[in-house]
Amino acid sequence: MILLDGKKTSADIKEEIALEVSELKNQDKKPPHLAAIIVGNDGASLTYVNAKVKACERVGFESTLIRLTEKTTEEELLNEIAVLNVDNDINGFIVQLPLPDHIDEHKILMAIDPKKDVDGFHPMNVGKLALNLPTFISATPFGIIELLERYHIKTSGKNVVVIGRSHIVGSPMSILLSQKRKIGNATVTLAHSRTQNLETLTKEADIIVAAIGIPEFLKGNMVKKGAIIIDVGITRVADASKKNGFRLVGDVDFNAVKDKVSHITPVPGGVGPMTIAMLLKNTLLAYYRQEN
Ligand code: NAD
Repeated sequence: MILLDGKKTSADIKEEIALEVSELKNQDKKPPHLAAIIVGNDGASLTYVNAKVKACERVGFESTLIRLTEKTTEEELLNEIAVLNVDNDINGFIVQLPLPDHIDEHKILMAIDPKKDVDGFHPMNVGKLALNLPTFISATPFGIIELLERYHIKTSGKNVVVIGRSHIVGSPMSILLSQKRKIGNATVTLAHSRTQNLETLTKEADIIVAAIGIPEFLKGNMVKKGAIIIDVGITRVADASKKNGFRLVGDVDFNAVKDKVSHITPVPGGVGPMTIAMLLKNTLLAYYRQEN
C-alpha cells in the first residue's frame, strides 16, 4: 500500500511557489497578494484562516487579514468586498466560511469579483469548471487532482465512486474526474445520502473519493482489492489521551482497508494539507492573469 502523502506534496508545491515568487522579486516585481476576510470568532475558522495567512508569508506572498466582528452586517461585509474588488494591490481574496446566520452566504459569494475569487466559489467560476474552461478550481478538489497527478495515478477509463455531493468537494470532484483532462476521463458515479446499495457501487470502484463527514464510514468490506482511496473527511472525535481533547478522523476506516488498497490518503496528512497549497496556487494564477 502506498500512502498518498499530502503533507509532503503540499510542502513541495509551496517550495515551488516560493521559488517562483523569489524569481518575481529578483525581477523587481511585486509579489502576489492574498486577502482573507473573517467574520466572528469561531475557533476552527480562525485556525484555518490564520494557517492560510501564515502559508502566504512562508512562500513570500503578501497577505492581509481583515477581521470583522460577529455583529458585522451583510451590507458592511458587501462594502469590504467592494473595496477588495477594486484594490489593484490585491490579486485574490477569500471570505472564510461559514458566515454568521444573519448574512446570506450566496449573496456574499456572488459579490466577489470572479477574477479574484481564488476559492472558486462564485457561480461564474463553478459554471466555467462545469464547462471545462479556465477558472479557479476550488482548493479541495484541485488538491485531490494535483495529488493524483503527482503520484501518477491513472484515472482514464477507471470506475470512480465519489461519495458526497457538496458544492465544495463531491460535486466538483465528480465533474472534474469525468471531464476530458489529464486527471479525468473516468466513469464517475456520484453517491449521496439517498443512494441505495452503496456497497455494491463501491465494491466495483477502482477509485473512491469519500467526502461525507461520517467518521470511518467506509469499511473494509466496501472496497475491492487494489482500490485507490481518497479520504476527504475530517471529523473531530473526542479523545482524552490528546492534549487538545480530540483527534481527527477521516471518512474511511483506515485500519480496515489499508491492507486491501493500493493507495490511500491518511487523515490527517492527506487531502487537508493540499487545500492551502492549492489556494496559494490559485492566488499565483490570479496574479499572472491580472499581470497579463
Ligand atoms: P457536506 O457535509 O456538505 O455533505 C455531506 C455529503 O455526504 C452530502 O452530500 C450527503 O449526501 C453525503 N452523505 C451523508 N450521509 C451519507 C450516507 N450515509 N451515504 C452516502 N452519502 C452520504 O460535505 P463536505 O462539506 O464535502 O464535507 C465532507 C467531509 O469532508 C467533512 O468531514 C468535512 O470536514 C471534510 N472536508 C475536508 C476538507 C479538506 O480540506 N480535507 C475540505 C472540505 C471538507
